[in-house]
Amino acid sequence: MVSTHDVINQSVPLVGYNLFETNRPLQAALRFNAPALDTTALGTLGAALGSADMQTHARLANTHAPELHSHDRFGRRIDTVEFHPSYHALMTLAAGAGLHGTPWASPDPDRHPNGEGSSAHVERAAGFMLFTELEPSILCPISMTYAVTPALRSNAALYADWGPRLTGRSYDPALRLWKEKTGVTMGMGMTEKQGGSDVRANTTQAVRDGSDGWGERYRLTGHKWFFSAPMCDAFLVLAQTSHGLSCFFLPRVLPDGSLNAIRIQRLKDKLGNRANASSEVEFDEAHAWLVGEAGRGVPQILEMGTMTRLDCALGTSGLMRQALSLALNHTSQRSAFGKLLIEQPLMRNVLADLAIESEAACALSIRLARAFDHKNDAQEALMARLLTPIAKFWICKRGSHFAQEAMECLGGNGYVEEGGEGVMTRIYREMPLNSIWEGAGNIMALDLLRAFRRGDTVAALLHELSLARGAHPALDALTAALPTRIEALAGESEGRRLAQDVALAVQAALLYQTAPDAVFSAFCDSRIAGNWGHTFGTLPANTHFEPIIARAMPQ
Ligand SMILES: Cc1cc2nc3c(=O)[nH]c(=O)nc-3n(C[C@H](O)[C@H](O)[C@H](O)COP(=O)(O)OP(=O)(O)OC[C@H]3O[C@@H](n4cnc5c(N)ncnc54)[C@H](O)[C@@H]3O)c2cc1C
Repeated sequence: MVSTHDVINQSVPLVGYNLFETNRPLQAALRFNAPALDTTALGTLGAALGSADMQTHARLANTHAPELHSHDRFGRRIDTVEFHPSYHALMTLAAGAGLHGTPWASPDPDRHPNGEGSSAHVERAAGFMLFTELEPSILCPISMTYAVTPALRSNAALYADWGPRLTGRSYDPALRLWKEKTGVTMGMGMTEKQGGSDVRANTTQAVRDGSDGWGERYRLTGHKWFFSAPMCDAFLVLAQTSHGLSCFFLPRVLPDGSLNAIRIQRLKDKLGNRANASSEVEFDEAHAWLVGEAGRGVPQILEMGTMTRLDCALGTSGLMRQALSLALNHTSQRSAFGKLLIEQPLMRNVLADLAIESEAACALSIRLARAFDHKNDAQEALMARLLTPIAKFWICKRGSHFAQEAMECLGGNGYVEEGGEGVMTRIYREMPLNSIWEGAGNIMALDLLRAFRRGDTVAALLHELSLARGAHPALDALTAALPTRIEALAGESEGRRLAQDVALAVQAALLYQTAPDAVFSAFCDSRIAGNWGHTFGTLPANTHFEPIIARAMPQ
C-alpha cells in the first residue's frame, strides 16, 4: 500500500489507567457511605481493569462467542458450553476480587454475621461497578452467585456444603462434583415461554422423590426459556408442587458424579452480552432439592432477585461511567472548527450533562449497597426495600439514552466495532439488558407501589430526603409534595412517574451530601426545577460547566 496521508486528529485509546483512582464520584460515594473503608484493594483492582491485557481479554471474550456442545462425537449428551480462554481470565479476576460472594464470608462473623454491619457490600459494589467498565457480560454468573446466598441459606444443609465454595475467591470452571471443586458459581431459572414477569404461569412440574441429607428431594420436568450461564454449578429454579410454586436447588452434577438431566437446547442469539451464554433448557426428571417452604417459591427466589437488581443498577452506573470516560477521552483530543471538541460550548453542555447523570447514578447505586450492609437497622432495611426498585428502574432506564449520547461524542468512530474504542458499541448493546432482566421497568414501578403500601416506607423516605432540606427550593417542593402524591395515587398508571420523581429526589439529596455544589445545583435546576430540554446537552447556560467536566475526567 502506498501511504497517502498522515493519521492526525484521532484520539489515542483510553488504556493503562487506574479505573478507581481516577473515578472521583465513586470515591466520594464511598467516603460518604463507608467512611472507614480501606480502598487499597479497589485501587489494585482498578489498575488491573484499566490494563491493556484485560482490555484484550474483554475484546476476545466478546468476539469469540460461547459455543454449545450438546453431544459428544459418540452421541452422548454432554450439554457443555465452551468459552474462549479470555472469558475464564475475566472470571478469574472477578472471583479473585471477591465480586461473587465475599460479603457473605465476613472475617468477623460475631459482629457482622453475613457481612451485615460492615462495609462489605459497599466495597463489593464498588468493585462490581468498576469491573463492569471493563466487561459487563461475564458478571452475569458473578452477580447470580453473589445474589444466591440469602435465599440458599433457607436450606441449612445445602448452604453448609456449598456456602464456603460460593464465598471463596477461586474460580473453577470444571463441570464436576462440588466436593472436588475449590469454587462454585450459581444461576437462576424462573422465566418460561408463557411468562417471565408473571412467574405464576410456570408449568415446570416437581414431583416428590424422597429425602436425604439436603432435605426433600424432587424430580423436575419442564423447561426454562431463559437460563443464563448454564455452566454454573447449580441453580435456584421455580417449579410447581402440589403446594404451588416452590424454589429448588438444581445442581448440574449430581452427588454420584453423573450429569443431572438439564438439557441445554440452544444458546440465545442476543443483541449484546455476548461473552455470556444464555440458554434455553429442558429438565427431564432432573433431581432438585427444596429450598424454603413448598408453595412459597416466589418470595424465596425474590431474595435472590433483590440482590441481582442491585447489580443491575451498579452495572448500568459502571457502563455510564465508562461511556463518559470514552467520550471525555476522545473530545479532549479531537479538534473541529478550530478548537478541541471539549472546548466547544455545546459539547461542554453535553459532557457536563452526561457527567451529572453518571454521578447521580453512582451515588444512588452505592447508597443502595450501603442499605444491604446495615439491614439490621430498621431505616436501612426500609431503604433497601424502597431504593431497590427505584435504582433498578431509573438508572437502567437512563442507560440506553446515555450510551447513545456518549457514542455520538465520538462521531462515526463511536459506531464502529473494531479497535480500542469499539468498547462503546459493546456498552450500547448492553444497556437495554439491565432494564429488561430481573424485572423490567414496569415491574419495578409496580414493585415500588407495593413498597409504598407499607405504612412505614414513606416516613423512611422522608427521613432520607430530610438530610438535604433547604438545599434547593425545587427539591424542597418535590419532597413536600411526595406524601400527598403517594397517598392520592389513582392507580398503577402513575407508577413510572412516581418512581422517576422519587429517584430524582433521592439522587439530588445524595449529590447534596457527596458532590460539589456545581454538580448538585445543575442536577436540581435541570432534572427537578425543569430548566432542561428533552435530551442531554440542554443544561441552562449559567451552569458551571468547568468544574463538572474536570471532576469527571478519567485522567
Ligand atoms: C439476555 C437475557 C438473559 C436472561 N437470563 C435469565 C435467567 O438466567 N433466568 C431467568 O429466569 N430469566 C432470565 N431472563 C429473562 C428475563 O428476566 C425476562 O425476560 C424478564 O423478566 C421479562 O419477562 P418476559 O420476557 O417473559 O416478558 P413479559 O413478562 O411478557 O413482559 C413484557 C413486558 O410487559 C411488561 N409487563 C409485564 N407485566 C406487566 C404489568 N402487570 N403491567 C404493566 N406492564 C407489565 C414488562 O415490564 C415488559 O416490559 C433473561 C433475559 C435476557 C434478555
